[in-house]
Amino acid sequence: AKQDGRNIHRFFEPSMDSAIKARRELEIDLRQALANDEFRLHFQPLFNLQDGQIEGFEALLRWPHPRHGNVSPAEFIPVAEETGLISAIGTWVLRHACQEAARWPKDTRVAVNVSPVQFRTRTLVLDVIAALGASGLSPNRLEIEITEGVLLHDTDATLSILADLQRLGVRIAMDDFGTGYSSLSYLRKFRFDKVKIDRAFIQDIHKGQDKLAVVRAVTGLCTSLGIATTAEGVESEEQLLALKAEGCTQAQGFYTGRPMPAEQALALLHQQEVM
Ligand code: C2E
Ligand code: CA
Ligand code: CA
Ligand code: CA
Repeated sequence: AKQDGRNIHRFFEPSMDSAIKARRELEIDLRQALANDEFRLHFQPLFNLQDGQIEGFEALLRWPHPRHGNVSPAEFIPVAEETGLISAIGTWVLRHACQEAARWPKDTRVAVNVSPVQFRTRTLVLDVIAALGASGLSPNRLEIEITEGVLLHDTDATLSILADLQRLGVRIAMDDFGTGYSSLSYLRKFRFDKVKIDRAFIQDIHKGQDKLAVVRAVTGLCTSLGIATTAEGVESEEQLLALKAEGCTQAQGFYTGRPMPAEQALALLHQQEVM
């Protein structure tokens, strides 16, 4: 009878329930991951389009889950944000990214993604100072990538945090540019050091002049404002050449290098040094 009861219960269980359960499990696993030091960083090259040099890497979080294999950050970052775990994870990412970058040749930068939640909890500036201090990394070699979610709410407080970071010498990049509703207006609100043009605008640029229009407009505007540009999601030589012709500063994508483990990134930099 007990067995039946359980089956009946499962049969009528609404699917919402299992989604909540899966989420709750993910939260527990995320806490474990932090405690057990399961997270890893991969590094994707930021390729200078004019001189062909790797001038930095974006740090991308990786989670080899003990039972489920690699879980995508697109899946676990939102859960980490909802549960507040992103603060501790963000601290971990900053510390490890700076530590790794301190091993690189002196002019190589590291870019770190920062969640809007890290701005709301207000520990970001202290985290950055601690990560720079512990690693000895020079502030101008750290680049903080923010998405428009950061600027959406509480703008005054956010802008003052960004200004504090810039005063430290840290560079600020606008990520996923062009995907939001008011991207252009953000360029007036804050003096970014770099704008990263979203992959959606890079995809078809080699297919004709009209496809290039947005990239051309953003690159032109940024150049005139003294803001560097990075094209995201560059997957082919055709795209690379078109972006170079538009005067885009950097390319990032599978064509110029996939995200890779730290040792591989370091080897790539050493190889570049001797060439
Ligand atoms: P993002 O910041 O826009 O990072 C770029 C994403 O595009 C990465 O996905 C990268 O692997 C992928 N990518 C790079 N080149 C190409 C390409 O040529 N083609 C295609 N199709 N994809 C490309 P990933 O590593 O899965 O990360 C997804 C997102 O998760 C990131 O998007 C970022 O929003 C978030 N994320 C990753 N690491 C962190 C972190 O440490 N902290 C926070 N807060 N968010 C992170
Ligand atoms: Ca990013
Ligand atoms: Ca991006
Ligand atoms: Ca993105």
